Amino acid sequence: MKIDLRSDTITQPSQAMKMAMFAAPLGDDVFGDDPSVIELEELAAEMFGKEAGLYCASGTMTNQIAIKVHTNAPGEVICDELSHVYKYEGGGIGFNSGLATHLLQGNRGRLTATQIEAAIQIDDIHFPETQLVSLENTCNKGGGSIYELAALQEIQSLCQTHNLPLHLDGARVFNALIASDYTALDMGNVFDSISVCLSKGLGAPVGSVLLGSATFIKRARRIRKLFGGGMRQAGIIAKGGTYALQHNIERLMEDHARAKALAEALEACSYVNGLLPVDTNIVVFEVDSNVGYLNTLEKLKQQGVWAAPFGANQIRLVTHLDFDDAKLEQTNAILKNLY
Ligand SMILES: *Cc1c(COP(=O)(O)O)cnc(C)c1O
Repeated sequence: MKIDLRSDTITQPSQAMKMAMFAAPLGDDVFGDDPSVIELEELAAEMFGKEAGLYCASGTMTNQIAIKVHTNAPGEVICDELSHVYKYEGGGIGFNSGLATHLLQGNRGRLTATQIEAAIQIDDIHFPETQLVSLENTCNKGGGSIYELAALQEIQSLCQTHNLPLHLDGARVFNALIASDYTALDMGNVFDSISVCLSKGLGAPVGSVLLGSATFIKRARRIRKLFGGGMRQAGIIAKGGTYALQHNIERLMEDHARAKALAEALEACSYVNGLLPVDTNIVVFEVDSNVGYLNTLEKLKQQGVWAAPFGANQIRLVTHLDFDDAKLEQTNAILKNLY
């Protein structure tokens, strides 16, 4: 038995998704005539009220392309110190776009307009010019934390005042939408560009979509080619993304409920020192240094439960499409009797 909670990226495409992919009409997407890629890009853009979309190999690629298109070095990007664009994209902001990163310390990965306002550089030749603000919703390293719509709207109006583009790393934006009272159209209204992962909670095997205005996406298409991300009969994988958007959004609430149940089980474990609040599908907990997190990961693995290390004595569990109630019961029993 293996229960894999390392990430929501580990899901396998379902039989129905594979059948849809198998039947997808294909073309050459570098020439712009793969009907299944076009279908996905149009569907995603329409959901968020954006003019256009661009299908890319990964969320790292959509984020890095967005940063490149929005900016013009020298300059800086403002983001939270926990953000994926800074922490988990290999230093791409400096490498790909030649920018400095202006890190702020938010609340579980979430920034406020006040914080950002204080960070925007004044016009002085000593300082890197602030050129972009990048936010994450939900925030992975914040334990799946969610922004309030009002907080995002305040940041939007601040950015408009300063003529700064605003990007959303929405790798798990649908988790935020399912757990909150705002919609995809609200996100489209707030942000100039949005990156959405199809291969996380939505369960498609490959890819992310970048959304924005028609002129933004036209430029992004050029950068995607330059990054080596132009794919030919990509419709065969894009179809999995379309299927995911059509079938796998509402069910994210099950993942959130199971994450809460895991958190409850962990709260009762003596070797657990604390947990981040569980708002969506991510559970981050800290183990007692007596038992150690590497040892705990190893013990869990021996019993079939795979989890991910998440910093000093911290472990992350992520619920997903292939984690059902039977597996939840088994996992809870294993967690309770681990030591
Ligand atoms: C997974 C993830 C990405 C993109 O990751 P890829 O593995 O490159 O697709 C971007 N941002 C966040 C917050 C993520 O969790």
